[in-house]
Amino acid sequence: MSPLKKILILCSGGDAPGMNAAVRAVVRSAIQQGFEVFGAQGGFQGIIDQKIIALDSKDVGNIIQRGGTILQTGRCPAFFEKTTRDLCRRYLAEMSIQGLIVLGGDGSFRGATILEKEGGPKTMGIPCTIDNDIVGTEYTIGFDTASNTALAAIDKIRDTASSLGRNFLVEVMGRASGAIAVDVGLAGGAEFILIPEVSNSMDLLIKEIQRPDRHLKSSSIIVVAEAGQPGRSFKIAEEIKEKTGVEYKVCVLAHLQRGGTPTLRDRKIATLMGYRAVELLSQGHSSKMISVQKENIIAVDFSGLKDSRTFSEKELLHINTVVS
Ligand code: ADP
Repeated sequence: MSPLKKILILCSGGDAPGMNAAVRAVVRSAIQQGFEVFGAQGGFQGIIDQKIIALDSKDVGNIIQRGGTILQTGRCPAFFEKTTRDLCRRYLAEMSIQGLIVLGGDGSFRGATILEKEGGPKTMGIPCTIDNDIVGTEYTIGFDTASNTALAAIDKIRDTASSLGRNFLVEVMGRASGAIAVDVGLAGGAEFILIPEVSNSMDLLIKEIQRPDRHLKSSSIIVVAEAGQPGRSFKIAEEIKEKTGVEYKVCVLAHLQRGGTPTLRDRKIATLMGYRAVELLSQGHSSKMISVQKENIIAVDFSGLKDSRTFSEKELLHINTVVS
C-alpha cells in the first residue's frame, strides 16, 4: 500500500468536458489503492476557503457522462501570493493531505508545483483544456468533445448556407491556439481557417476570396479561432466586405463548445489518465503531468516539457488549402 494516505483532487482554470470522468477515475482508483480521497471545491480557492469534502465511490457515481465538473473549477489570483499558499500548505498539513491531483492547464500545474516545492503535497497534473495546447502532451481532456460540438454546429450552418447560397464565418474557441479551428475546419470542409499561429492569415484570406475561380463556390464556411478576442469575426466580416465586396454572416459558437456530454475519446482518456495519476502518485512520483504520447498514457516532468504533437497547425492548414 502507498505510504501516502490522503489525497486531494481539484479542478483549476477553465472547465472541460471529461473532467468528471477523470474525477471519477481518480477517486475510485485511489480508494482501491487504500487512499482516503478529498475534493476541493472551485479550484485552489476551495483550499483557501476550506471547502474540502470527503469523496467516496458513490459520490462519483453517474457522473462519467456529465459535462462540466461536480467539483467546480475556477481561477484563483490569491494563489499567486506566497502568504496565501503558506496558509493553504499549513491547512493541508493539518488535514494530513500528502498528495494533490490537479485537473487543469499548465498554469494550474505551475501553482501546484510551487506549493509542493514550498513543502506542500506531492503533485500530479491531468491536462484538461478544450484548446489542446498544453506542451508535453498530444492530447488534453475536453478537446474531442468541444471539436465535435463545433463540427455539429458547422454541419447545421452548412445546410442553411448551401440552401440560401450564403457565406458564413463560424467562430470557435481557442485563446492562443488554433487547434480546434484547424481540426473542425478540416473535418467540416471549411474554405479557409484563420488561426492565431499565422500572423498574415487575413491577407491570405482576402487573396483566397479574390481568386478568379472563386465564383464557382455558391456558399462557403470559414472557420475563425477566437484568439482571445471573442466576437472578432464581426470585424473580420466587415473587413472582408470592405476589401472584396463579398458578404459573410457570422456565427459565434462561444461557450456552447464547453458544455455537453463528453465523447467516448474524452471519457476514455480521462479514465486512463485518472487511473495513471493515482498509480504514479502511490509509487512515489511527483511533479509530473500525465501525458498522451503515441497512444500511450505516460508521465512527463513538469519542468522541461517539449512539444510532442504529430502535425503542426501550419501543416494542417496547408492540407486544408489543398482539399478545399
Ligand atoms: P490554466 O491552468 O488553464 O493554464 P491559469 O493559467 O489561469 O489556467 O491558472 C489557473 C490558476 O492556477 C490560477 O488562477 C492560479 O490560481 C494558479 N496559478 C497559475 N500560475 C500560478 C503561479 N505561477 N503561481 C501560483 N499559482 C498559479
